[in-house]
Amino acid sequence: MSRIKEREPMPQQPPAERIKNFFEVALGYTEEQAIAEAKRCLHCKEKPCIAGCPVIIDIPEFVGLVAEGKFLEAAAVLKRDNSLPAICGRVCPQEEQCEKTCLLSKTGQPIAIGRLERYVADYEALHADATPLGRDLKSRPNSSPRPNGSHERPKGPSLARFGVAVVGSGPAGLTVAGDLAKMGYSVTIFEALHDTGGVLRYGIPEFRLPRDILDREIDYVKSLGVKVVKNVIIGKTVTIPELLSGGFEAVFVGTGAGAPMMMNLPGENLNGVLSGNEWLTRINLMRANRFPEYGTPLKVPKKAAVIGGGNTAMDCARTALRVGAEEVTIVYRRSRVEMPARLEEIENAEAEGVIFKLLMNPTRFLGDGNGRLVGMECIRMELGEPDDSGRRRPVPIPGSEFVMDVDTAIIAIGQTPNPLIRTTTDGLQVTKWGGIIIDEQTGMTSIPGLFAGGDAVTGAATVITAMGAGRTAAMGIDRYIRQKHGLPVEDGEPEAGDN
Ligand code: FAD
Ligand code: SF4
Repeated sequence: MSRIKEREPMPQQPPAERIKNFFEVALGYTEEQAIAEAKRCLHCKEKPCIAGCPVIIDIPEFVGLVAEGKFLEAAAVLKRDNSLPAICGRVCPQEEQCEKTCLLSKTGQPIAIGRLERYVADYEALHADATPLGRDLKSRPNSSPRPNGSHERPKGPSLARFGVAVVGSGPAGLTVAGDLAKMGYSVTIFEALHDTGGVLRYGIPEFRLPRDILDREIDYVKSLGVKVVKNVIIGKTVTIPELLSGGFEAVFVGTGAGAPMMMNLPGENLNGVLSGNEWLTRINLMRANRFPEYGTPLKVPKKAAVIGGGNTAMDCARTALRVGAEEVTIVYRRSRVEMPARLEEIENAEAEGVIFKLLMNPTRFLGDGNGRLVGMECIRMELGEPDDSGRRRPVPIPGSEFVMDVDTAIIAIGQTPNPLIRTTTDGLQVTKWGGIIIDEQTGMTSIPGLFAGGDAVTGAATVITAMGAGRTAAMGIDRYIRQKHGLPVEDGEPEAGDN
């Protein structure tokens, strides 16, 4: 009967408590829960969950090991294909990926694959030193996603003479850097900010992804010998052509999609109107909620409106509650079913007291005469025919305007790639919206030796797709350098005269 059991619930901090702190909301399974959940797996013949995972983790194998209480063995299976399992187990949209394809989802609740991944990764971090397998895992922990079933190349010591520059330290950059370092290359990451991790640090709040988990995974990449140079803006301090001609054999661009889209409405430049990116960066990276201990100030909102329905909007709203806002409202122009945010995050926001005003959109921001926001005029919407995204188009209802009292409006309607790289790199081909065009198989751009991946190529996407792109590019860079220098390129072929 265990097969039709409901999935194990995730223990959580109660909403009334958690909105007063930045500690992680989800507390993680206990050992008993992890085993009970893993035992629900049917071990189906077809194993549809594997194809649902963007990095093709052998899910039934790792889940089967959890069911037997063999957590370190399960971690070894995970780490064959995923370099950041503790992060992915927390933030991947499993409900749209592996869990969506799980056979159990046809009749009930799928296996909680993400929660098990998180349990196993955390267990391994805590117990790595306790057994020979744990120590072995620690010393060779994170292999990375291997799209197309490809394998890692044997490490060639003399590859260290080839330098590769990685621009950006988000999941794409960290993955490409880690993979290349493991192959033996000398890798340098250049990061514009004063800290590493990209959106994992400045975007996703601590109550969803604790910083010690992030630091642990980044420290591992550094332990492979990857050099990290912070506070360097590529395109300003030094350009991509300068990197390519200045000693680096190849360059990878993983600069993400950090330029916020604004609404271009009247009043948008009032004090109190800001982008989701700015709001989250101030708090997550600059620690404005701890001013004056940290140097960045924060005006705590009384009534905040967050415009948008994605993960960024949910993060902004829930962060606003935690810094002490009295009332936080999400304003979204479509209905709840069209919201792009993860369902879990929408439910968490609702439980925490975020108000949802759906089918409405701002039309202008209203000031107090001294440049400070005091209100937001909105119009009600209805859903019309589907648009290009396949979702029903929101259509304004004439004459339905009304005013909301707000002192803070956070615009979280999307991000695009920053233009700096493309405007300082002659010959780089980009799409109409600024995404870098690459060869899908290798990750190479229109410029030989220049590779790219992650949100800088796809526009705002997910952590796991950025990591997968990093993995593809690492393979592409390895092949490119080997071909350029007449080294063998086939898997497993020894490096002639290369020792
Ligand atoms: P990024 O993570 O954006 O990293 C790019 C890095 O490059 C940054 O550190 C940046 O400072 C640096 N950089 C930029 N320009 C330069 C330059 N010129 N020189 C040097 N460095 C530069 N995805 C999920 O899967 N699950 C989630 O729950 C989720 N929640 C999200 C919440 C928020 C608020 C946001 C904004 C995104 C979220 N995403 C989520 C999306 C996910 O975080 C991104 O798709 C992913 O981080 C993209 O990785 P990346 O490496 O391409 O870029
Ligand atoms: Fe187990 Fe679901 Fe995968 Fe079947 S589809 S093997 S039930 S996780």
